[in-house]
Amino acid sequence: MEDKFDCIIVGAGVAGLAAAMTLARQNMKFLLIERGEFPGSKNVSGGVLWGTDLHRLVPEYWKEDAGWERYIQHRRLTFMDEQSAFSIDFKSSHFQEPPYTGVVVLRSRFDRWLAEKVQEAIDASDYAMDSFIATDILVEDLVHDEHGQVVGIRAGEEEFHAHCVILAEGVNNLLTRKAGLQEAYVPADHMLTGVKEIIRFDQAVLEDRFQLHGNSGMSNEFIGYATNGVEGGGFLYTNRDTISIGLVLGLKDLREKNQKPYDILNHFKTHPAIADMIRGGEVVEYSAHVVSSGDNRVMPKKLSKGGLMVCGEAANLLLNAGKAIQGMDYAMRSGILAAEQAVASKASGDFGESAMKGYEKALNDSYIMKDIRNFQDAVHLLHDPVMTSKMPNLICDFGRNFFSIKNQPTKKSRAMLHDSIQKHASYWDLLKLGARGAKAL
Ligand SMILES: Cc1cc2nc3c(=O)[nH]c(=O)nc-3n(C[C@H](O)[C@H](O)[C@H](O)COP(=O)(O)OP(=O)(O)OC[C@H]3O[C@@H](n4cnc5c(N)ncnc54)[C@H](O)[C@@H]3O)c2cc1C
Repeated sequence: MEDKFDCIIVGAGVAGLAAAMTLARQNMKFLLIERGEFPGSKNVSGGVLWGTDLHRLVPEYWKEDAGWERYIQHRRLTFMDEQSAFSIDFKSSHFQEPPYTGVVVLRSRFDRWLAEKVQEAIDASDYAMDSFIATDILVEDLVHDEHGQVVGIRAGEEEFHAHCVILAEGVNNLLTRKAGLQEAYVPADHMLTGVKEIIRFDQAVLEDRFQLHGNSGMSNEFIGYATNGVEGGGFLYTNRDTISIGLVLGLKDLREKNQKPYDILNHFKTHPAIADMIRGGEVVEYSAHVVSSGDNRVMPKKLSKGGLMVCGEAANLLLNAGKAIQGMDYAMRSGILAAEQAVASKASGDFGESAMKGYEKALNDSYIMKDIRNFQDAVHLLHDPVMTSKMPNLICDFGRNFFSIKNQPTKKSRAMLHDSIQKHASYWDLLKLGARGAKAL
C-alpha cells in the first residue's frame, strides 16, 4: 500500500459505503476500513431504505435481483391497545414504478452487496491497485499533525495517512468523541435500543398473508400497546421470504420501568393482530442495537474540523417523527456529501477547517437538516407519554364502538368520541396535544 490516501473512511455501513462509491467514481485514492469480518456483519436495521439515492449510487439497481428485498407499495400506521388495532392504511400502484419510494433491506446482505459494487467501481477507476476496502480492522484513534489537523488513523501498531478522514462509524461514535466534536457522555434519555427478530415463512404463505405480488412489500409502524408502556414504537417489514419485526425503546424509560426489551418484544408478538400475522413463522435471527432518538440536542456540536468530516449516525443524523425511521437515507446522503467535499478539497488542495465546513454547509442546505430542524417538535411529541398509552387507547376504544353494530340504537360518532375521551384522557389532554400536533406537523 502506498502511504498517503486522498481519503480514509472509517466504517463500511451505509454512510461509509456511499462515501466510498462517490470517491471511487470520482477517481479518488481511498481506504475504507471496517472492523467487522465483512461489511454488514455488525449492522442491524429494521429496515426500509427510503428515498432514491440508492439509484444515484447503483443506477437502476432494481434490475438486479440482489441486495434489496422488496419495494414498499403498502404502508400502514397502527394504534394499538391490548386487544385492538386501528390502522391508517395506504396502498398505491404509484409506488410500483422505479425509482421506488423505499426498499426493504437486510443489512448483512445489503451492505455486502453494496461493498461489491464499490469494489467494481474501484476496479474501473485509475486507482484500481491503490484504493482498498479493508475488513477486520478496528480503527482506534485519529492521527493529527502539529497544527491539530487530522492526517490519518491508527489501528493497532499501524498508522495510515490521508489528506482527510471521513468518520462513518455509526451511533457508537467513539472516534467522533475522541476528536472533541461531541460530549463524551450522551444522556440515556436521548438514546433508544432497537430489538429485532427475523421470522421465516414459506414465500407463498408470506405473499398471500400480506397481499404481496412480485417484489412488492409492506411497512407497518405501531404506536401504543406494542411497547408495553415504555416510550418508543414497533415495526414490521416484509422481506423476500421473511419479515423483520421489532421495537425501538427509550433506554431511560426501560431502566426506570425495569423492563427488558426482549420481554416487551414477546409481549408485542402475542397481540391478536400480530399473532395473526406471524403464525407459523420460524424465528431465524435476533439482534439488538442502540439507535439515536433523533433529538438534535444530542447532535455533535460540529460535524467537521481540519481534515475530518463526520457523517451518518455518527453525526446523530436520524429522524423518527411517527411516519418512518429515517437513518439509512440520511447516512447515504451525508456520506455522498462528505465524499463530494473531499473531491472538491483535492481539486483546491485545501483540506483545512474552513474547507471541511463546506460539508457542514451542504448538509445544512440538504433535506436532512431541513427535516431534522422542522420536525423536532414531532420527535418530542412522539416520545411524550400521552402517545405511548392514552392516545392509542382512546383511538382503539373509539374504533371498537364505531365498528360495533348492535341490536340497539346507535350513538352518534361525536357522542362515541366523547365517551372515549372521558374514559382514556381529557379534553385538556386533547387540547394540549392538538396545539402541539399543529405546531409539530
Ligand atoms: C432496530 C433498528 C431499526 C431501524 N430501522 C430503520 C429503518 O427502517 N430505516 C432507516 O432508514 N433506518 C433504520 N434504523 C437506523 C439505521 O440502521 C441507521 O441510521 C444506519 O444504519 C446508520 O448508518 P451508518 O452507516 O451511519 O452507521 P452503521 O450502519 O452503524 O455503520 C457503521 C459501521 O462502522 C463500523 N465501525 C464502527 N466503529 C469502527 C471503528 N472504530 N473501526 C472500524 N469500523 C468501525 C461498524 O462496524 C459499522 O459497520 C434502524 C436502526 C435500528 C437499530
